Amino acid sequence: MTMHYPLLVPSILNRARTAFPSKEIITRLEGAEGGVHRYTYREMAARVNRLCNALNFLGVKQGDRVGTFAWNTYRHLEAYFASPVMGAVNHTINIRLFPDDLVYIVNHAQDKVIFVDPDLCPILEALAPRLESVEHYVILTDDPEPATTLPNAVSYESLLAQASDQFTPPEMDEWDPAGLCYTSATTGRPKGVTYSHRALYLHSMAECMADTAAFSERDTTMAVVPMFHANCWGFPYSSALVGASQVMPGVRPDPQAICELIDRHRVTVTAGVPTIWVGVLDYLERSGQSYDFSSLRAVISGGSAVPVSVIRAYKERLGVDLVHAYGMTEATPIVTYNRVKTHLEDLPEDEKYELAGSQGMVVAGLEMRLVDDEGNDLPWDGEQRGELLFRGPWISREYYNDERTAETYIDGWYHSGDIASVDPDGYVQIGDRVKDMVKSGGEWISSVDLETAIIAHPDVLEAAVIAIPHPTWVERPLACVVPREGARESLDKAQVMDFIRDRFARWWLPDDVVFIEEIPKTSVGKFDKKVLRERYQDYVVGG
Ligand code: ADP
Repeated sequence: MTMHYPLLVPSILNRARTAFPSKEIITRLEGAEGGVHRYTYREMAARVNRLCNALNFLGVKQGDRVGTFAWNTYRHLEAYFASPVMGAVNHTINIRLFPDDLVYIVNHAQDKVIFVDPDLCPILEALAPRLESVEHYVILTDDPEPATTLPNAVSYESLLAQASDQFTPPEMDEWDPAGLCYTSATTGRPKGVTYSHRALYLHSMAECMADTAAFSERDTTMAVVPMFHANCWGFPYSSALVGASQVMPGVRPDPQAICELIDRHRVTVTAGVPTIWVGVLDYLERSGQSYDFSSLRAVISGGSAVPVSVIRAYKERLGVDLVHAYGMTEATPIVTYNRVKTHLEDLPEDEKYELAGSQGMVVAGLEMRLVDDEGNDLPWDGEQRGELLFRGPWISREYYNDERTAETYIDGWYHSGDIASVDPDGYVQIGDRVKDMVKSGGEWISSVDLETAIIAHPDVLEAAVIAIPHPTWVERPLACVVPREGARESLDKAQVMDFIRDRFARWWLPDDVVFIEEIPKTSVGKFDKKVLRERYQDYVVGG
């Protein structure tokens, strides 16, 4: 027996069960009474015990990977807990990846069991012959004989019904792996990141701190971010740790479902990528529906930069605080969170919105550096731009069984590939990912800065700026713009250019503006600039 107290996921579950037994988990479920499934942490914990026994029964051993291929539901939440509680690793698989990436991930992780939602079975059925390590597919249903051609398929509820609700976790070390998540890697194969029990535990505590997301028993949290995207931004574990109620948006949530859930269940904190929040705003304007959002204290936006104009629209039209946060799969994922420091509270309104548009401050517990190309530290003066590096208790130390570790984890620091400036108060302003910057005549142009300016135009719904090849300057920016519904015919290039002209040096301005129906999105809803770059690689300005 060690003298040290290990930080383990089972303690998080134990706290939810013993201290908050009657707090609820509510899952949107079409056809159910009131459109939802609801139960308590007490009931959840008992079912997690059953699931731990069931995983043992299926032959899962300590350290084995157990995959999930599922929407945000209470059953997925049970898997989030059961795997680490019984000593296995919860591997959340992105349901929107290309088939070849899915095959790569499952084989690379060597998943032994995969939990699958019934409507997602067809995707895996087509790939099953290539998934070498999987011994059982557990279908997340109460149907005792699920209709699927997946080999060795078992019904989740039948499995649970046979298992005891008494379970004692095995002895574990806090450094043991508890979670595994792959980045959606816009170039090359996805990279896996394991989360230790210790990292998940400390990340949960950090997320609940007053100057981070401040989760508490008084909250009802709702992760719109999928449970397979970067550890669901910590929501499942952090909420359970403090006994916050959880709302799970279920299968294919659309903006209407999101609005209804917030209204009906008095959600206080929710989170998702900017695409979600732009979609919700657009839905509200187009449908003319109104909802009661008075319960919301924070709508967390992360995953890519959220334009100040969107933050402003949420505040002015809905009375809601859109809070900017930043992180990555490699960091469990939170690294910065935006809170206004007391001495900045009286800033003029415009400056306050600008500040809200920054990614915020590095959260307590982590260390951050800003470095130039040669790795020299740059001053935090709000001007100089460099790459952000991080280290700390929930920053991963490597990619899972991957030679690419050496490119990213150097001398104990995680190299984010994000180019930013940091102001004297410590607020981070991300310019771009290195690979999204436009390098014109040897000078960098930030695509994000241009996009943010263009999106502020009232007739613009979305905008992405990409590099196109240029004979003299090597690369020049091209703006790809999606007009709002009523402005498809009227919005033209001159209007867009005039709108941003005064805000940038002349050589920063896009060479051209193309109007498109929609910005292609990645599997987690970020702008897919790789697709746009391919589409416009032969683009001739004015041609
Ligand atoms: P993927 O690499 O598959 O996109 P992640 O969600 O882990 O998956 O991506 C992390 C990256 O997303 C960060 O390194 C950064 O480039 C970007 N990012 C995340 N949050 C923000 C934000 N608030 N503002 C700007 N960029 C962000």
